[in-house]
Amino acid sequence: MTIPTAHLDQEIARRRTFAIISHPDAGKTTITEKLLLYGGAIQEAGSVTAKEGRSHTKSDWMSIEQQRGISISSSALTFEYAGRHVNLLDTPGHQDFSEDTYRTLTAADSALMVLDAARGVQTQTEKLFAVCRNRGIPILTFVNKMDRPAQDPFDLLSQVENTLKITAVPLTWPIGDGPDFKGVYDLQTGQVLAFERTSGGKHRAPMQTAGLDDPRLVDLVGSDLAAKLREDVELIQGAMPEFDPAAFLAGELTPVFFGSAMNNFGVEHFLANFVDLAPPPGPVETNLGERDPDAPFAGFVFKLQANMSKQHRDRTAFMRVMSGHFERGMDVTHTRTGRKLRLSQAHTLFAQDREKVEEAYPGDIVGLVNPGVFQIGDVVSVDPKVTLPSFPRFTPETFATLALKDVGKRKAFMKGLTQLAEEGVVQVFYPTDGARDPYLGAVGPLQFEVFQARLAEEYGVDVELHVTSYQLVRWLAGDAGSVARFARHVEDDQGRPVMLFRSKYDLDYTAEQHPEIEFLPLPRDL
Ligand code: GDP
Repeated sequence: MTIPTAHLDQEIARRRTFAIISHPDAGKTTITEKLLLYGGAIQEAGSVTAKEGRSHTKSDWMSIEQQRGISISSSALTFEYAGRHVNLLDTPGHQDFSEDTYRTLTAADSALMVLDAARGVQTQTEKLFAVCRNRGIPILTFVNKMDRPAQDPFDLLSQVENTLKITAVPLTWPIGDGPDFKGVYDLQTGQVLAFERTSGGKHRAPMQTAGLDDPRLVDLVGSDLAAKLREDVELIQGAMPEFDPAAFLAGELTPVFFGSAMNNFGVEHFLANFVDLAPPPGPVETNLGERDPDAPFAGFVFKLQANMSKQHRDRTAFMRVMSGHFERGMDVTHTRTGRKLRLSQAHTLFAQDREKVEEAYPGDIVGLVNPGVFQIGDVVSVDPKVTLPSFPRFTPETFATLALKDVGKRKAFMKGLTQLAEEGVVQVFYPTDGARDPYLGAVGPLQFEVFQARLAEEYGVDVELHVTSYQLVRWLAGDAGSVARFARHVEDDQGRPVMLFRSKYDLDYTAEQHPEIEFLPLPRDL
């Protein structure tokens, strides 16, 4: 069935697909819960299961996640707000960053950066910010935990500007902090949004408004805070750049909001602004040039996940629709292999729940059953020739050797190793002399623990892991003969020769001794 273009355009225009980036503990989970509350997807924040059993706020489906209180999977939460269809991509929030998080960011059209008002910009935020920056997507900022003693808001803005090199323009301004936090002033409308604490932040917070000159302002916030607010606003209006939507869309300026997610301070106000400011899906760079969202159907796979739950031991490929109208059961081409596929097994997923998807539009995330055909970056489309030029991969920085405890389990081990590597849980490097077990490469050491736990739980295989002193991997390039003479018996999972180094010094020294070889941080064809 083809749908009228006007309808397609309308659906595209109302899509908002974004991800939250933050340092662990800044409040990502709490904000997610509140956004869902305002989006009507759940009735009471903090409840794990919604009324109809449809929405979960945490994707704690793996025991390691429960043990450590972290979420490792990435999937999408969907809700409607003010006529917009919002897709919030769930990114893992643990300290170690993994390829998985990065890949999820490739499916987002904008990002919300959550900062802890006392801590400001933290390491993990910086790393994730850099990924968004590289992609040029617009970034909004929410300064959370204003109900706790906070840094001076002017200092926070300077910190954002200095460490992240992005212009920070406040759209709201906090009135007080810690026990004196009274709400925020909307710099665009001139209204004061005064919030009352609600028990445990469970229900929608009531809201009163008054202008800066409203005599009730003093009643609302007290004379000291009212005077301070007038002073601050004067300073902002005199000294700060105005909000420039074009600079925001180009990723050069971030609008900043203040609030307290736990107390529902400022979250709905942020959401109302977000759906207006954040962009709908735009064109995607493909081998055939830019593909507009209203082109015929195409989607790309940004994440693979095996064994989503005990009930469903299958593999899922998460696809983001990049153009056109997706319908369950449609015939498409898997463009890397040219294979024809019927997309009959499609669903949205969150935690253990799965709902059948009948149709989807650009920006939406669809889980496809993956019988082993999909790789990250693959395209499915009604146009058989569309592919993506490249998909980001990340250079591992920590390496472990691995020994199988029960050699009788070799077959299950190889299956687990292949599937988990395919998902990007770890990268695998094989010694070519066949004498030893492979090396695992990861961006952060938690990836090893996840690998080990999942191998045991999902494949019944116990392995011992030993973190090595290697710190760098380089792919070898140059003339085939030189590379073959030089190669030191390790290759990646595609058979490309690599070399592991213990230090930057080792690498530099080797590179100096062998000017005929290029040492690349990623394989050349990626
Ligand atoms: P995440 O690790 O970024 O997902 O952070 P969480 O949402 O789990 O929050 C971390 C901790 O901070 C939890 O104990 C939250 O209850 C608490 N928290 C979140 N938002 C606020 C807030 O606005 N004020 C205060 N005081 N605590 C908050």
